Amino acid sequence: MNLKKIYEENNALLTGHFKLSSGKHSPNYLQSARVLENPKVAQELLSALAKQIQEYGLKVDVVCSPAIGGLLAGYELARALGVRFIFTERVNGVMTLRRGFEVREGERVLICEDIITTGKSALEAAKEVEKFGAKIVGFAAIANRGLCKRVGSDLEAKSECKLPSDVPFFALDDFIFETYEADKCPMCKEGSQAIKPGSRGN
Ligand code: ZN
Repeated sequence: MNLKKIYEENNALLTGHFKLSSGKHSPNYLQSARVLENPKVAQELLSALAKQIQEYGLKVDVVCSPAIGGLLAGYELARALGVRFIFTERVNGVMTLRRGFEVREGERVLICEDIITTGKSALEAAKEVEKFGAKIVGFAAIANRGLCKRVGSDLEAKSECKLPSDVPFFALDDFIFETYEADKCPMCKEGSQAIKPGSRGN
């Protein structure tokens, strides 16, 4: 599977000058919502990810995603794994399990995002379900931005990665883009203005 090609074909691999949620600037941005807009493509991607997880031998009772970014990927992954799906959402900035969702003590939870960059939101969702006694057995995403170490890749985790090193992380591929600290960004130096994806209708 050529993940980069699928993102390109669905206009989900953007080029320009972007301000990422980390505050860094990058000439590229992944808009996974554009890929997942087509349920057939979503099904294809997350079925492939489910297969990788099953071949690893991971036993999962429930998939949990941090809203909003992880919802579609997590739901399709849960469907492919044949398990239920729940999500956490931010309430006054704090990742919270709401809507009557429950996890029981000892349940094996897989946290799923669309893209894992540092894994901050995924880890916040994990900490929330752990409060109920659930066990985090893995993390998953369609793609890894190259900061964390995924199962099957030679890339080592960078210091920015927040995912625990003793829990497996599954993704279909690594997507590595150049990123710059805002004050060292060459695109800013050329006078262009970084756009925060989503803030101007994109
Ligand atoms: Zn910049």
